[in-house]
Amino acid sequence: MTNVQTKVREVGLYINGEYRKAMDGATFDVKNPATQEVIAKVSEATIEDVDRACRVAREAFENGPWRTMTVAERCAKLRRMAEIILERKEEIAGLDAIDVGKPFHSAVQHEVPRAANNIKFFADFMENQGGEVYPMEEAYLNYTRYEPVGVAALITPWNVPFMLTTWKLGPCLAAGNTAIIKPAEMTPLSVSLLGEIAKEAGIPDGVVNVVHGQGAVVGTALTTHPQVDLVSFTGSTATGKRIMKNGADSLKKFSFELGGKAANIVFEDANLDKAIPVSIQAAFMNSGQVCLAGSRILVQRTILDEFLERFKKAAMELKVGDPQDAETKMGPLVSEEHYKKVTSYLEIAKEENATLICGGKRPELPEYLQNGYYLEPTVYVQENPKTRLCQEEIFGPLVTIIPFDTEEEALRIANDTEYGLNGVVWTENLQRAHRISHAVRAGTIWVNCWFVRDLRAPFGGFKKSGVGREGGHHSMEFFTEAKNICIAL
Ligand code: NAD
Repeated sequence: MTNVQTKVREVGLYINGEYRKAMDGATFDVKNPATQEVIAKVSEATIEDVDRACRVAREAFENGPWRTMTVAERCAKLRRMAEIILERKEEIAGLDAIDVGKPFHSAVQHEVPRAANNIKFFADFMENQGGEVYPMEEAYLNYTRYEPVGVAALITPWNVPFMLTTWKLGPCLAAGNTAIIKPAEMTPLSVSLLGEIAKEAGIPDGVVNVVHGQGAVVGTALTTHPQVDLVSFTGSTATGKRIMKNGADSLKKFSFELGGKAANIVFEDANLDKAIPVSIQAAFMNSGQVCLAGSRILVQRTILDEFLERFKKAAMELKVGDPQDAETKMGPLVSEEHYKKVTSYLEIAKEENATLICGGKRPELPEYLQNGYYLEPTVYVQENPKTRLCQEEIFGPLVTIIPFDTEEEALRIANDTEYGLNGVVWTENLQRAHRISHAVRAGTIWVNCWFVRDLRAPFGGFKKSGVGREGGHHSMEFFTEAKNICIAL
C-alpha cells in the first residue's frame, strides 16, 4: 500500500514532452470518493491548450521519427513502457484507489498488470503482423501495407482509467500514430503518468499528450478539431452519439465502446457452486461500475429459491469499506453525482414494486469514511423485465434478478434491451450453451465464466453498446490505413 492519500498533488497537462499549467492557469479539484478529501488540483485545459496539443501531435506524426522508425525499434520502446508500468504498479494502483475508490489490492493485482500487458501485447502483435499478397497471374502483383492513420484522440471513462487507456494507447502507438489522451475529469491521476512513462521509455516528445477537463469543453474541442483523424472512445452511449455528431464535419474515424446491461442467465442445470461466486463478482466488482457487469440476473424459476438464498448470503458477506484495506471487496461509488443517480433507483424500484432482497442503504462504516458515497450490495427481484430497473444501465452495486420459466422466455428477456455488449450463460448442457450463445445479440458471450479476456479476441458491442471492435487485428485495423500497391511485372 502507498501513502499517496495524504498529499494534494498538482497535475499538469502533458504536451510535447512536458507537464505544463493550463494557459489561463485554471485548475479543478479531484476528491477521494471514500472520504471527500481533495487529493489533487488538476490543470483544466483551455481550447487553446487542446489546439496546441493537436498541433504538437500533428507535427510529431508528420515530421517526427515515430512513424518512420523501424517497427522493431518502436515496439522495443513500447515493451519498455510496459516494464515501467510494472515497476510503478503500486503507485499507479494507489492513484486509482484514491481517485476511483476501487480496492487497491485488486488494482495492483489485476488492472495494472493487465495495463502493462495491453502495451506489450500490441507491440508483439504489430511486430508479428504480415500483410496480404495477391498475384494476378504473371502480369501484376498486389501487396498490402498497414500505415498509421495520424493523430488519435483517446477518450476514456472514470471506472477503469489506467487500464482502459492503455487498451487504446497500445495499438495506437504500435501502429505509428500519435495520441492525445483525454481521461475522465473525475479520475485523471493515473492516466496523467502516461506522459512521463512514455518519455522514460524513449518515446519521442509530442507522440503522447494528455489533456484534462470537462468532456463538454475539452472533449468537444478534441472531437471537432481538424487535426484529429480518429477518435477511440469508451464511455456512455449518450456521449458516443454526441461525439459522432461533433466529428462528422471533419469525417473522423470512430471506435466506440459504450454502455451495457448484460443478461447473466442461470439455468436450472447450472453448477451453482461456480455460478454464484462469479455472478457476485459480475454484479459487484468495482461497486458495479463495470460496463460488462451482469446486472440482470435471469434465474430459472425451479432454482429461484435456492439461488436467492445463496446469492443474498454471498452479497451480504462482501466486505464494503476502505479501498486501502486488503480485506475490502467493494469501495464507494465514484462521486456525489453518481451516488445520487444510483440511489435514485432505490425509489424507482419501490415505484415499480420490485422486491428488495438485501442492501438498499448505506453500510455501517468507521467515522473517517462517513462522507464516502457508499451503498450496500443491493439485490432486487423484479418479475417485469420492461421496468426501468431492468432496462437502464445503473452502473452501481444494484442488481436485479428476473425469474423465467423456459429457454425461449430467457432469450426473449435477454435480448429485450437496447444494449448488446455481453452476456453470460450458466448451464451444464453443451447444446443449450451453444444455442443461447448464438441467439443472444451481444459482442461477447461468456459460458460458465465471466470477464475472461484473450487480447486477440474481438471486443465490442452490438446495438447501442458500440461501433467497431477492439482487440488483436480488430484494433490494428482501426488504427491503420490499409494501402494496396499493385505492380506490373
Ligand atoms: P461519459 O460518457 O460520461 O464520459 C466518458 C469520457 O467522455 C470522459 O472522459 C468525458 O469527459 C468524455 N466526454 C463527455 N462528454 C464529452 C463530449 N461531448 N465530447 C467528448 N468527450 C466527452 O462516461 P463515464 O460516465 O465516464 O463512464 C461510464 C460509461 O462508460 C458507462 O456507460 C459504461 O458502460 C461505459 N463503459 C464502457 C466500456 C466498454 O468497454 N464498452 C468500458 C467502460 C465503461
